[in-house]
Amino acid sequence: DVESRLIVRSAPMNGGRVLVLFEDSTTRLRLEEARRDFTANVSHELKSPIGSISLLSETIADSADDPDAVRHFSSQLMTESRRLGVLVQELIQLSRLQEGDAFRTSELVSIDDVVAEAMDRVSVEADTRDVTLVTGGTQGLYVYGDQAMLTTAVRNLIDNAVRYSHLHGRVSMGISTHDGLVSIAVVDQGEGIAPDQKDRVFERFYRGDKARSRETGGSGLGLSIVKHVVADHGGRMSLWSTPGQGSTFTILLPEANRPQAEALEQEAVT
Ligand code: ADP
Repeated sequence: DVESRLIVRSAPMNGGRVLVLFEDSTTRLRLEEARRDFTANVSHELKSPIGSISLLSETIADSADDPDAVRHFSSQLMTESRRLGVLVQELIQLSRLQEGDAFRTSELVSIDDVVAEAMDRVSVEADTRDVTLVTGGTQGLYVYGDQAMLTTAVRNLIDNAVRYSHLHGRVSMGISTHDGLVSIAVVDQGEGIAPDQKDRVFERFYRGDKARSRETGGSGLGLSIVKHVVADHGGRMSLWSTPGQGSTFTILLPEANRPQAEALEQEAVT
């Protein structure tokens, strides 16, 4: 209701007149609401792996005389602790990005290096699912920014593309430049995303039904981290997807002109 969102201040003035000020508090209330939701979500998301870890530890302690059971539950325990580790790491990244203190550096970053390192970090998962990673397009492109954060963003996209691909699938990265923008497209031929989910997938903690029911599902924070990193670099993102055929996530970033940038850096040094 509108009335509860308006803060009314009144003050008597000379001549019997009254000054009434209306202050729209919608934005403040919305921020408070988002903060409350975030805390509730964090508690909920942490409770699940912590609960499993304590239950599995008890089970292992009770199964001391059954080596097969110990092996089985220990492997589950490892999976759950890894999940918890990733969740905590992503929460820290996201809260740093939200506080705006994630960027310590703004340097000339090679897109080739970013893509190569991001691919390297998902190679184990890609091998496990027998997904082929291919890259192509323009080489030698540069942007200004934080190399570690950009690598995390591209890694998250490739990681999703691999995880939501069919076994033995193919994920391709296409790099190009147009109108002063560097474009990094991550294309998969996986399950795709329904039109009504396209905006929701970028929300914090949002997970598709399949991801939620999957045992080793992610935290639902990956794409919100990508969105933040891209926005902080003055870029934007696009998502194209056909359910059943695959998805293309594209990051667009302002291009740094390499010779110009190098000349500027040289000037600063001398
Ligand atoms: P997570 O992958 O950890 O669940 P994300 O924030 O990375 O979280 O993604 C949110 C949701 O978006 C996923 O749960 C999934 O439903 C959907 N999604 C993301 N990337 C893809 C993709 N390449 N193909 C199909 N669905 C995807």
